Amino acid sequence: MSEVYDQLLLTPGPTAVPQRVLDALNIPMIHHRTKQFQAILERVNTNLKKVFLTKHPVITLSSSGTGAMEAAIINLFSPGDKVIACHSGKFGERFSDIAKAFGLNVIDVTNEYGVVVSADDVKKALEQHKDAKGVLTTLLETSTAVLHPIQEIAAVVRQTSAVLLVDAVSGLICDPLYMDEWGVDVVVSGSQKGLMLPPGLAFIAMNEKAQKMMVDSTTPKYYLCLKAALKAFVKNDTPYTPAVSLIRGLDVALDLILDEGIENVWKRHAVAALWVRNQVTNLGLELFAKAPSNAVTAISMPEGLKSEDLIRFMRDERSVIMANGQGHIKGKIVRFAHMGETAKPAAYERGYRVFLEALKHAGYVSTAKAL
Ligand code: PMP
Repeated sequence: MSEVYDQLLLTPGPTAVPQRVLDALNIPMIHHRTKQFQAILERVNTNLKKVFLTKHPVITLSSSGTGAMEAAIINLFSPGDKVIACHSGKFGERFSDIAKAFGLNVIDVTNEYGVVVSADDVKKALEQHKDAKGVLTTLLETSTAVLHPIQEIAAVVRQTSAVLLVDAVSGLICDPLYMDEWGVDVVVSGSQKGLMLPPGLAFIAMNEKAQKMMVDSTTPKYYLCLKAALKAFVKNDTPYTPAVSLIRGLDVALDLILDEGIENVWKRHAVAALWVRNQVTNLGLELFAKAPSNAVTAISMPEGLKSEDLIRFMRDERSVIMANGQGHIKGKIVRFAHMGETAKPAAYERGYRVFLEALKHAGYVSTAKAL
């Protein structure tokens, strides 16, 4: 057990949970149908809007982030509806797969891993498919560390009757996302990333355009029915038993974020990202993402180096946990996250020192500065 107390989790989710949040998780249970819990939910619902930068409801679901992605698809669309799914990584592919699983007519707009699917790509697809009812995209594509230009994509989608759905499971709080100002219709997120909570909560925010689409949706749904969730939401209630402890943790995490100020939190992530990227590129290593997010740095492995070797050394010898690539880029990148609580110098500087040791241990000879 003791070894987990020294572990530094520098994976792009789950991320480290601050002590104040851990303390809030660890207090005696209360019942959810009480004034006491309603007061917490009221505060959480208000503060979530401030973090999502929206005046619209942000619904909290008891699931991981994928649950909110599925909720978005099954509540807005019907089998046969056409949607444009933009992807150049694992999580964009997942959004497309969910839509296919529920019988939607999915037009895949793809690009190679490491680059974005751009606003221009979206514009062309929407011109070709004028009957598209939705566009699915990802803020931070966690599998490649790519940040999508959501503001530009939203400006394109806004000109049409389609709704824009953004998977911000990992990007929210780390990279700027102005839901209402940019005209994003649906934002989904999860608890175990920038929100600095354990896994188990997912979020979905929807504007009026998205809520109107719910009326015509014929896709079967029950537990993830957002009409029921919205009805309960206005009374600071939930249709089913909520994850009471996690919501109490969320209450504290939102306080921490709002006390710091969302723009300051973004700045802290930008400082962390710049520092890590500078160190890594000074070693002669390359970044995998052409348009990198501020929450995670994907470091390409040079010839002869396998990411699993570095990751194993860091984990087993130094208790620092970083992530491998996924799919066909497994073994080819190390994902070094500086997300939420770990976007602080004590965490990412320790992470970098250990990464350096792992490189030396693997025999890497820097082409730039001496190691
Ligand atoms: N989308 C993105 C961008 C993610 O990073 C993740 C989790 N890594 C998911 C979706 C899926 O979330 P979960 O694992 O919480 O279901």
